[in-house]
Amino acid sequence: MGNTIQNVLSEYWGYESFRPFQEEAISSILDSKDTLTVLPTGGGKSICFQVPALICEGMAVIVSPLISLMKDQVDYLKEIGIAAECLNSSLSSDDKAGVMHRIKSGNLKLLYLAPERLSSESMREFLRGVKLSFFVIDEAHCISHWGHDFREDYRGLGIIKDEFEGVCVHAFTATATSQVQEDIIKQLKLESPHFYIGSVDRPNLTYRALRRSGNLIPYIVDVIKKRPDEAGIVYCLRRVDVDKISEKLNSLGYQNLPYHAGMPNEIRKRNQDAFSAEKVSLIVATIAFGMGIDRSNIRYIIHAAMPKSIEHYQQETGRAGRDGLPADCYMLYSGSDYRTWEYLLGYSTQGKVTRDKLTAMYNFCGRLGCRHRYLVNYFNQAYQNEDCKACDYCLGEFEELSEPLIIAQNILSCVKQVREKFGASHVVDILKGNLTYNIERWKHERLPAFSSLQSETKVFIRNMVEQLLEQGFLDRELEFKTLFITDSGHKVFSGDIVPKLAKPITIQKKKEVEKKRKVRRDVDWEGIDEELLQILRAKRRQLAEEKNVPAYIIFGDKTLKDMARVKPVSEDGFSTIFGVGEAKLIQYGEIFTKIIRKYLESEPVGEGVVELKSR
Ligand code: ADP
Repeated sequence: MGNTIQNVLSEYWGYESFRPFQEEAISSILDSKDTLTVLPTGGGKSICFQVPALICEGMAVIVSPLISLMKDQVDYLKEIGIAAECLNSSLSSDDKAGVMHRIKSGNLKLLYLAPERLSSESMREFLRGVKLSFFVIDEAHCISHWGHDFREDYRGLGIIKDEFEGVCVHAFTATATSQVQEDIIKQLKLESPHFYIGSVDRPNLTYRALRRSGNLIPYIVDVIKKRPDEAGIVYCLRRVDVDKISEKLNSLGYQNLPYHAGMPNEIRKRNQDAFSAEKVSLIVATIAFGMGIDRSNIRYIIHAAMPKSIEHYQQETGRAGRDGLPADCYMLYSGSDYRTWEYLLGYSTQGKVTRDKLTAMYNFCGRLGCRHRYLVNYFNQAYQNEDCKACDYCLGEFEELSEPLIIAQNILSCVKQVREKFGASHVVDILKGNLTYNIERWKHERLPAFSSLQSETKVFIRNMVEQLLEQGFLDRELEFKTLFITDSGHKVFSGDIVPKLAKPITIQKKKEVEKKRKVRRDVDWEGIDEELLQILRAKRRQLAEEKNVPAYIIFGDKTLKDMARVKPVSEDGFSTIFGVGEAKLIQYGEIFTKIIRKYLESEPVGEGVVELKSR
């Protein structure tokens, strides 16, 4: 069987080997065992069910929550020669009848369905009359109240096990804590399922978090400037922020499109399509954007504000680097994000769950430690590496303070002097020596702590307060968020415990670190002819436009880079390129090898000619 699935993978997808857990999940599906597979975004979940769907007798039904994603998946499958269709509300009645006809005639291997379709008795009746291989529930976390994306439509999916006796159900998701996993199994009534829980880690993503102050634009511009031609998303919390930031960036010459739920559908769709088709490389959006986006070469994500949970953060940053190449995630956060979310979330019945999620997110931002480890641990997994080499902390972008005790004692004394009755902002203002309305009102300018950290910036002092909170020397009273000193905090006064405090490194040092990172990028680009890559990209864009599909459906960036490295000029050579299966070889082999031949002929004698001879 190993041979068969390997052959299917290379024949249709043009991939040489499986990623972690893919082979195991495929084998269980072929052995007719219910499965629950948790793999990170970009981990390759689709192949886990698409490969067995091709091998098994009958048609697999894939329940998927997003119509746009369904269409992209089906388009991609058709491109590589696999019989797939979808049934959802976007189809005309003629198209629907055509799909029903194909199902009845037994020609389809995969059918994508929106969950609400299965709540219709007539649809289930229809499917019972068809030879089915198995069901797949994609984005299965949507079934659980404990997850971050609960959908009412998913709740009824337990009916599959009741009504389709003997047909296996396979659940897939990218983000599931143990609690959500248990819930998925219970709700879907999975029978002794096999589990494949991959590491949630995304080693190709570099995470950074920076406390923002004042104007956001310079931070954002700084990131964009480094990657003028690469794709990125700026996520904002509110629609007004989207409009403001998008406009400002456009006026500064950083071409981008906005996206949020308040825009007319038509324009929103047009902007999303422009991004998918690679006509624009930057989108400024609320989190409404991205659910239907499968563009695999997104190189950076900027959060202009903090999301409400680690699950959301993981999902939003997860959209970067799906092609496995390095990508950067920047979080620009502040304490006001926490308060905004508290206000927006209100006191719902699930108050404690949402609040804990929010706090975990905030702690992620302010902490001093490996960010990959924090994320992995959050999803109840162990992190094996000493150091991730892919977060601001592990890359040495922070430096420890040489005299942390003095700073810590100043802050804790201030909290004591205000009798533990005030919040962080007020404490910071006292330490900085700002004569605010409240300080005058409470006569806090008379306290010894007033101005005691005058030479430091407000952001620095606030950062130190958050670090003391994160390390448990301070705590917040739940309702009014006033700061109080913990038992270990009291030991700091005597110097029995010395907290570890750190600050971002200076610009000069940052340049040195960036130089090191550039070396890493150069390794990724080793041997790639960037001029040829641009030509190949333009061809891909043209083909995508002609076919009216997103560019990655023609070829992913990794494939184009491989072409620009290997420079194949024959069909044989082209077939060895990453991501080229039989259908793509037939469709695009001649088109791309011709471009490469032409490029090499026009190139002055040098590398290209040697390459041509050697192939
Ligand atoms: P997920 O649904 O888990 O986010 P996808 O199934 O969309 O991930 O896969 C992400 C990308 O990785 C896709 O471009 C896919 O074709 C590619 N991919 C999946 N499995 C492999 C593999 N074994 N080898 C190379 N690329 C793969």
